[in-house]
Amino acid sequence: MTPEIQTHLVTLLGYPVQHSLSPRMHNAAFAAQGLNWRYVSTPVHPSQLQEAVSGLKALSFSGANVTIPHKEAVMPWLDAISDRARHVGAVNTIVTEQDGDSTRLRGDNTDVAGFLSPLQSHEDALAGESMLVFGSGGAARAVIYALLQHLEPERLTIAARSPRKAEHVAIDMAGFDGRSALEVMPMKKAGPAVRESRLVVNATPLGMEPDEERTPWPEVEDFSEGQVVYDLVYAPLETRLLREAAARGARPIGGLEMLIAQAAAAYEQWTGRAMPVDVVREALREHAF
Ligand code: NAP
Repeated sequence: MTPEIQTHLVTLLGYPVQHSLSPRMHNAAFAAQGLNWRYVSTPVHPSQLQEAVSGLKALSFSGANVTIPHKEAVMPWLDAISDRARHVGAVNTIVTEQDGDSTRLRGDNTDVAGFLSPLQSHEDALAGESMLVFGSGGAARAVIYALLQHLEPERLTIAARSPRKAEHVAIDMAGFDGRSALEVMPMKKAGPAVRESRLVVNATPLGMEPDEERTPWPEVEDFSEGQVVYDLVYAPLETRLLREAAARGARPIGGLEMLIAQAAAAYEQWTGRAMPVDVVREALREHAF
């Protein structure tokens, strides 16, 4: 028997979690739609991740988000994993599903849809073109998978400070790389690839506050009109990379829209409703941006 639930609870599993904007976004959306749902943050030490995941079932949580450092480590403790989360190699969303008397925890990755959302209006211009991603961490994996699956680039360069790690990402993604587009290079040597790419994505924390003077690519003359430069960093809203690329005529996309879109994709799976994204944007504006 499923226990009667007064309030639906969703939590963020991470370590640490106190700086996350997810509670602000989801609670604003729940309130706007009059839903008796609450989003909380629960710091979970890596040594207690398995117990925390079991606890989601025991406490009848309706779902969860997963953040650093648990996005990969959580996978063995779930009952099912979506194809895209398996292909990316990371789960950022858990959905609780009821199957008769049994409860199932399904892992998904909404960073893929979140990343693609602000690119929709640029799809025609970008499909099949050359692209470049700075970084080879968890977010870069979602970006690379999304680009290979949806925009089929002619060339997709992973420019990373640790090329060996990036090679592993390229190997993991090879099954989605029908055009043999992937290439790996050290960041320092990425000049020609930056110049030739129609889409340049920053998937490193470079430029994030408080180190706002940093940028993954200080060679501003490599940016030009006709390029889209997309920074996953969302604090500050306008990073040095975006400001400098825009000054050279490139079209900038900041990380906030991805943040909202990945949250919206999770919200819809938990509640069955579309997230009121304007309310969420407003709630974030009231934050310190
Ligand atoms: P991650 O797994 O820790 O990966 C970070 C990547 O950046 C790694 O490849 C790392 O290289 C590289 N890096 C770190 N410091 C660097 C430096 N000083 N110079 C060159 N490369 C450096 O982190 P993540 O989860 O992928 O997140 C990356 C960024 O994306 C963060 O700023 C995060 O806030 C942002 N993000 C935004 C959204 C959104 O919704 N807008 C979603 C996810 C992530 P090594 O492998 O050599 O360490």
